[in-house]
Amino acid sequence: MELKPLDFGKKGTSKPIIIAGPCSAETESQVLESAYALSNLGINIFRAGIWKPRTKPGSFQGVGLPGLKWLSKVKEETGMLVATEVATKAHVEAALSHGVDIIWIGARTTGNPFAMQEIAETIASIKKDAPVLVKNPLNPDVEAWIGALERLANCGVCHLGAIHRGFSTYGEHYYRNNPQWGVPLELRTRIPDLTIICDPSHIAGRRDLIAPLSQQALDRGFDGLIIESHCSPDSAWSDKDQQITPPVLKDILNSLLLRDSKNVAEELHQLRERIDELDAQLIDVLSQRMKISSEIGNLKKLSKMPVVQPERYNSILQSRINSALQEGLSPKFMKQIISAIHEESVRVQIDQ
Ligand code: PEP
Ligand code: MN
Repeated sequence: MELKPLDFGKKGTSKPIIIAGPCSAETESQVLESAYALSNLGINIFRAGIWKPRTKPGSFQGVGLPGLKWLSKVKEETGMLVATEVATKAHVEAALSHGVDIIWIGARTTGNPFAMQEIAETIASIKKDAPVLVKNPLNPDVEAWIGALERLANCGVCHLGAIHRGFSTYGEHYYRNNPQWGVPLELRTRIPDLTIICDPSHIAGRRDLIAPLSQQALDRGFDGLIIESHCSPDSAWSDKDQQITPPVLKDILNSLLLRDSKNVAEELHQLRERIDELDAQLIDVLSQRMKISSEIGNLKKLSKMPVVQPERYNSILQSRINSALQEGLSPKFMKQIISAIHEESVRVQIDQ
């Protein structure tokens, strides 16, 4: 996939990238009030949903076209870049013709190949170099997420980023959308140059988790945050439980610990070399252990002994867990390792 660096121009160069604004544009004064408050905090990229994909009919579905004029006013009056969500060809045409700077694709659209194809072709026909951020699909399907990015890139829309907003699950949960950090990590591994932003608001679903999730995201190497902020969250027309006021956002941003990768580069390099060496030793030890297992398998076969001996397994497990505890390793971790090794040993002995 051909990717270009996600370039927001002079105005959008903050590191980490911070995008903030209300879940939805509600009225002109609400939009401008929040944009001014956020711009005064030094935030350069304003978000507001104009078309809101809501789970149930009858909920507020966004103000539609009039909201785009309010976003143009935000640009004109504060100089901020503006971002909104698109879900159809008509949304793309309207947003780009009103000067929306950054487009994002919502979770419900990313997983829909026909919608994605149409959106990709429409963006390409109007403004190929528009920056586009693709939220993860509702379910933890990294292929669908990559597929959506590929549809854009194949049409020549290459200024791409991804937004991790968590995954929906059935029933009551701590998070509104479970983070399952392994999924964005796989995305990063598969497309190393992709900018990945975290959306702690939609992961959390509540205000008190925004700060710890933001810190976790930065610690995990995310390139930025998109955070929902509303001047009067309690009366917001959508997602009121997760929106925070600009002053609260300011406190959160000030409290974040930013890691400077340059300072630690050399030390990290040395530690990684030691890890590489230890991993090589681990592989060597595992290979020796499996060779012995295979000899044991031969003996068992000759003497018609069953391969699995539960007593021996239990005593191995217990003694290894005890030794691990003395070395400061977690018993749960050691149990997983021993059980994986044992399973492979059994397989090797059965294959004898
Ligand atoms: C949003 O950002 O307001 C939104 C609707 O997000 P998501 O697609 O992640 O649900
Ligand atoms: Mn929202």
